[in-house]
Amino acid sequence: MGLRHACHVQLERQGYDEEVGMAKITMGYNLLSKYVVHINNVSYSQEQLDTYRLLYDIIKDRKYFVITTNADGQFFKGSFDQDKVFAMQGSYGKYQCQHGCNDIIYDNEEIIGKMLQRFNEESLEIREEDIPICPECGELLCPNLRIDHCFVEVNHMHNKGDYVEFISASEGRFSFWSLV
Ligand SMILES: [Zn+2]
Repeated sequence: MGLRHACHVQLERQGYDEEVGMAKITMGYNLLSKYVVHINNVSYSQEQLDTYRLLYDIIKDRKYFVITTNADGQFFKGSFDQDKVFAMQGSYGKYQCQHGCNDIIYDNEEIIGKMLQRFNEESLEIREEDIPICPECGELLCPNLRIDHCFVEVNHMHNKGDYVEFISASEGRFSFWSLV
C-alpha cells in the first residue's frame, strides 16, 4: 500500500472528491516514516540512560513499585524488577492493529530493522512488502501506544492490581518520586 493507494481509499470512504484547497492526512509512505526512525532510536539504539541506573541504585534495597507513562522501555532495560513496573501507556517496542481489531501485539524490533535496512535510499520509500500489516484484518499495524480508543492495553495492565495493592498496603507510608 502506497501513498496514492491510501489517498484513494480515503476518498472512497468519504464518498466524495476532496474540495480544491483542502487536505487530508495519511501515513507518510513516500518518506522513510518518521515513527520508524523514532521507534528505532528510543527502543533499540538507546541504552538505558544514566537517570534510570541512578534511580535503580537509590531504590534497589527498598520496597518499590514503578508507575510510568513512558513508553520508551527504559524501565525494562536495566535491573528493575519487571513485575514491579506498571507501564500502562503502551510501548514503542510493540505494534498492534491500527484499528485494534484484536488484542494481539507484536514485537517490532525485527520489523523495524527490516524497514530501515531495506528502504530505497533514493526515493526514501519503505518497501511495500516491509510495511507491517495486521494479519487479521489487513489494515496497517501501528505503535502500541495509548493515543486513541483503539489502543490494545491488555498486555500492559497485568500488574495494575499489584500496583494498587502496593499502594494500599503501604497505608500512605511511601515516598513518591516523580521523574520529569
Ligand atoms: Zn486488524
